[in-house]
Amino acid sequence: MPEEQVKDLRTTASVAPLSILQRETALLAPYAMPSRLSRGRRHPEPTHEYRGPFQRDRDRITHSAAFRRLSYKTQVMMGEMGDYHRTRLTHTLEVASVARTVGRTLRLNEDLIEALALAHDVGHPPFGHSGEQALDECLRDEGGFCHNEQALRLFEQLEHPYPQFPGLNLSDEVLLGQRTRSKRNKAAAGANSAVRLLEVQVVDAADSIAYDTHDADDALELGLISLADLCETDLFREAIRRVRQRFANLERRALEKAAVRELIDWQVSDLVSQTQSQLIEHSPASVADLPPTRLVTPGSELAEQKLQLEAFLYERVYTHEAVMAKRREAQDWIRQLFRFFTARPELLPASLADTGDSVSRRVSDFLASMTDRHLQRTYRYMKETAAASLE
Ligand code: MG
Repeated sequence: MPEEQVKDLRTTASVAPLSILQRETALLAPYAMPSRLSRGRRHPEPTHEYRGPFQRDRDRITHSAAFRRLSYKTQVMMGEMGDYHRTRLTHTLEVASVARTVGRTLRLNEDLIEALALAHDVGHPPFGHSGEQALDECLRDEGGFCHNEQALRLFEQLEHPYPQFPGLNLSDEVLLGQRTRSKRNKAAAGANSAVRLLEVQVVDAADSIAYDTHDADDALELGLISLADLCETDLFREAIRRVRQRFANLERRALEKAAVRELIDWQVSDLVSQTQSQLIEHSPASVADLPPTRLVTPGSELAEQKLQLEAFLYERVYTHEAVMAKRREAQDWIRQLFRFFTARPELLPASLADTGDSVSRRVSDFLASMTDRHLQRTYRYMKETAAASLE
């Protein structure tokens, strides 16, 4: 922005806040998603005096019960493995942090980015993908379970903090952004321009940057892998070479942490510069002018190296025996609890009594809403007080 305009904003503001329109006009690039073009909410609401629609979406997500519960839900490592590693909540915050950095640099709508990032994993059941897999098996005859679709159920139906309507009544762009994450909804959403939104693409890319790096960091801290193991991947070998150029004599853990930071910074910088090149090439004049292809992607070399790192993480971390043992145990708890509540739907919370869904789906909604520790407590309750009568 020209210096003159910056001064104008400072001197004319007095104590009155800038309107959302003023702020977005001053800050957003032409290809960013402005609030004024939002397709709105399913249940129309009056505009807020000083909060924009995407700000309100972000706040509604942050204040939801499902979001709070992410603090006791597994990312990859389960709770009793220690207290250093990421939970589903801290993963979400790291995604939001990376996404906002990228979005601000590209002059995209940070409020929309933050809402999308904070929303992206809200549908996760306890025990991460292990829990998701177990619930998916339990619901095999009813369309299965997918955390991305569960987030939409929460936003549109299950969360109920407002008397006027079910769900959070989020802006269409946030719902459509989440819909693009669901395999089943991808095809349907593909026809919609919201899929092309750069804000949605930034959050997808930030998710990948966050988990590739923090899962490696957690695995190092827990001793599941060593730095020498990680140096089998091109990305970490190069990250360590770069760190050693600046710091020659770091002790092991300091070197590991510096390498993880280097790798985040490297990926973010690559993503920004690659996306800028794409934007120069396509030069979209507005949101409507965005091409139907992904513009927010890493460079081809780095994308290939990320695939190599992800294959490494799958083989050496996600399927490590220490992780798998806990995973099998958690999946067994979920399967047993699913059978237990399916046989006794009267024990489900009253809020799930009249959703109009099948017993299986309501049991799944109940189990998916639980934190890891709530599910463990419920399992113990089932074993100690009720299971005998089911024999
Ligand atoms: Mg995620």
